[in-house]
Amino acid sequence: MAKALYLEDSYLKECDATVTSVKEDKYVVLDQTIFYPKGGGQPWDTGKIIREPDEINVVYVGKFGGEISHEVDKPGLKEGDKVHCVLDWDRRYKLMRSHTAAHVLAAILCRETGALITGNELATDRTRFDFNLENFDRDAFQAYVAMTNKVLMQDIPVRCYNLPREEALKIPGMVKLAESAPPDIPILRIVEIEGVDKQADGGTHVKSLKEVGQIKFVKAENKGKNNRRVYFELTE
Ligand SMILES: [Zn+2]
Repeated sequence: MAKALYLEDSYLKECDATVTSVKEDKYVVLDQTIFYPKGGGQPWDTGKIIREPDEINVVYVGKFGGEISHEVDKPGLKEGDKVHCVLDWDRRYKLMRSHTAAHVLAAILCRETGALITGNELATDRTRFDFNLENFDRDAFQAYVAMTNKVLMQDIPVRCYNLPREEALKIPGMVKLAESAPPDIPILRIVEIEGVDKQADGGTHVKSLKEVGQIKFVKAENKGKNNRRVYFELTE
């Protein structure tokens, strides 16, 4: 199992690695990686795997059978190759900012309305957010966005650490997802936004809310009786 360096330090932009397997000339597994595999509503990272003098693009990263698989656009990598990995940092950093913003908005939405999150998908341009609220009030939602932006202006630290599952599940507000309980593993990774939110989460986040900037409401849709869908984006 490859070491997931992005869980320990989401600011790593480059790393050395060794190729541990290659399937069909394009699915590459490394002994350690900075590339985030699609999951938990966060898209995969892109970037390059360099084996001098070749630069090979990473076009998709997923988790298959517990392994992190990097899909590359050119054949040639072989087991045992020493490589250097470089992230498309602009893309990743935007996703980190959006992901942390989504946690703040979710915390405020849950606190103010009691709604639970039913779906969440980050993208580099905008973030989709589904929650179970019968009466959706656009003005009220704008107010939650404004509250979120107020919180985002503060230099509040974001920390990631591991906790035993039973201990983690005792934290109030830990589960804001309506359908999916945290994965059934003994140790959960917690993302804590000090004084704002604690979630079991495997994504990549910024280290201070100040880095997020501000968000703006894009649009809302009704997706059935109890299901509201909203989109927000980062303002640059
Ligand atoms: Zn998350």
